[in-house]
Amino acid sequence: MKAWLLKRCGNLVENDNILEICDVPYPEIKPNEIVIKIKASGVCHTEHDEIEGRTPPPKFPVILGHQIVGVVDKTGKEAKIFKCGDRAAVAWIGSSCGECYFCQKGLENLCQNFQATGRDINGGYAQYIAIKEDFAYKIEGGFEDEFIAPLLCAGAVGYRSLKLTEIKDGEPIGFMGFGASAHIVLKLSKILFPSSQLMVFARSETERQFALDLGANWAGDIEEIPPQKPKAIIDTTPVWKPIIASLNALEKGGRVVINAIRKESTDKEELLKLQYESHLWLEKEIKSVANVTRQDVKEFLALAFKNNIKPEIQIYSFENAKKALIEIKEKKIRGAKVLIVEGK
Ligand SMILES: [Zn+2]
Ligand SMILES: [Zn+2]
Repeated sequence: MKAWLLKRCGNLVENDNILEICDVPYPEIKPNEIVIKIKASGVCHTEHDEIEGRTPPPKFPVILGHQIVGVVDKTGKEAKIFKCGDRAAVAWIGSSCGECYFCQKGLENLCQNFQATGRDINGGYAQYIAIKEDFAYKIEGGFEDEFIAPLLCAGAVGYRSLKLTEIKDGEPIGFMGFGASAHIVLKLSKILFPSSQLMVFARSETERQFALDLGANWAGDIEEIPPQKPKAIIDTTPVWKPIIASLNALEKGGRVVINAIRKESTDKEELLKLQYESHLWLEKEIKSVANVTRQDVKEFLALAFKNNIKPEIQIYSFENAKKALIEIKEKKIRGAKVLIVEGK
């Protein structure tokens, strides 16, 4: 089968040979696994971080990708949930132990032995993937494959971030950065919190206009203070400056939830501007969101299908995966990027 192999970490633009399309064997299958023939595969900012070495390093070579939709092609001897031909999806959580303290508490996203799809196990930039069947999701109804892929990470992790804000209807919500995740969560927030004001902080005029087009009540630059201070702000930016800006714009007792696997170190000196009295005093909080649980993915897919929350997408051919990733690096983003692996 064809697969994009990440061979080592490095700068995506300067190194031609770290990420290459290769011929690799059809995946071997364990008794409790299924093989999915991949139709659509989402491209996430996390892949850019993996390539450039900002997440815990994988065992090379690895196939990237963790927003996968396709059809079951083969089932292991002990597989009971899926049969061949079923529509199936895979998200960032590829495996957890089920036994540790965190798994027992419903926090499998924090499992001691958490394995990420497309990092610790092979992912979706390929024609096929093998996955434990209880870490795959049955897709019944819903949208076309390419509209489901971005829901699996940008959507599901965004949904987890929204839950972690503990926001209630009527309380204003802020979005710092407006890419794949934020635009989906904004759509969801309009449904779950119809009386809340939704405010978007974004660097570019294009992103701000995109936010207003999708129904944001206010859109401004990252250091602007909106007419109403948000009770919670979800930060999806890759850098530090917006965290300081978020804390500055936050209501008393409010919470900033950081939805980013790693922050780039390029503007770390911005952190020196953190001042206790203006940024943290009056019970302001900062919390990060790590990974995602299967329950988050299931709940979010059900909400998205029921409420017709379709992401805005940009389609790329499988061969153009690198082009899509470079555009993410260059911050050319409007909605979510998806690779079509298998033509319809
Ligand atoms: Zn992702
Ligand atoms: Zn565990």
